Amino acid sequence: MELLKKRIIEDGCVLPGNVLKVDSFLNHQIDIDLVYKLGAEWKRLFSDEKITKIMTIEASGIGIACVAAMHFNVPVVFAKRSKSSNIGKDFYATPVVSFTHGNTYDVIVSKSFISPEDRILIIDDFLANGSALRALINIIEEAGATVVGAGVAIEKAFLHGGDKLRDLGYRVEALARIKSMSDDKIEFC
Ligand code: 5GP
Repeated sequence: MELLKKRIIEDGCVLPGNVLKVDSFLNHQIDIDLVYKLGAEWKRLFSDEKITKIMTIEASGIGIACVAAMHFNVPVVFAKRSKSSNIGKDFYATPVVSFTHGNTYDVIVSKSFISPEDRILIIDDFLANGSALRALINIIEEAGATVVGAGVAIEKAFLHGGDKLRDLGYRVEALARIKSMSDDKIEFC
């Protein structure tokens, strides 16, 4: 999506550790007009699918998932970070490896909010190694629901997390796919 790529070039900043900082429009301050357009694009891409829910992961996915959900007119469920390993039988739980911090933490989703009839679209801001998307896929499939696909804003394609998910048969639609990035240059696929 040209609009997003342009914004990344203008306002993105590459940090050590293959981290792209997009705090001025996506991750800290959120440009609602831009995110609304990202939502419209995911709606267009998934217009052939019946979707009953959008799922994302705390924290940075929540804002964009909620704005995107306005195009789909469905609820948003977000996986919460769990502070306790003893979460009881009312929750699905699965580990996530944090790309930006390197640690592993559990996320949980209440069993009340996913049912086998659900057809779920995952939305997230970034796709790097794919741990966050895999965690959401695990939870959706454990609940017996259907993963329709994933819409991500920015895929760091050079890390191949998205390709591994596509090889497993999941539909992943990224609106900007980065081929390479360095201090002074970002190249798209
Ligand atoms: P993955 O699980 O695919 O390795 O990483 C995806 C998650 O890590 C996203 O939910 C996002 O919050 C975070 N993330 C990964 N790469 C970046 C990045 O370059 N910049 C920012 N701001 N977040 C990232």
